[in-house]
Amino acid sequence: MATNADAHTPAQIGQRDARTLAIEWADGGTSLIDVRALRLACGCARCVDEWSGQPLLSPDSVPADVAPQSIQSVGRYAIQIQWSDGHDTGIYPFERLRSLADGGLLAALPEAGAPGD
Ligand SMILES: [Zn+2]
Repeated sequence: MATNADAHTPAQIGQRDARTLAIEWADGGTSLIDVRALRLACGCARCVDEWSGQPLLSPDSVPADVAPQSIQSVGRYAIQIQWSDGHDTGIYPFERLRSLADGGLLAALPEAGAPGD
């Protein structure tokens, strides 16, 4: 039986493609995460005001093609991502990743306005 801990324990983390991070969870679920949405969801003190909770990060300042350059585990509870825009202070606890992903807030979407062929 899957436990609550399994829901917040990644079995595997990897990039599915340039825009999509895939996390397979120990409970069998998979979260497909848009990497730019993940960058925008950074909760570090440079991106979110620690006291007011107000966002400090302007989406306009994040390149459309921002991507993780390295992903490191932090203890057993989180990952830290070094981004191509130079940002590297964001720590993403697995519990937060799962709840954001399950809430659809990090969903990988087709690019808006992409030319069809
Ligand atoms: Zn940040």
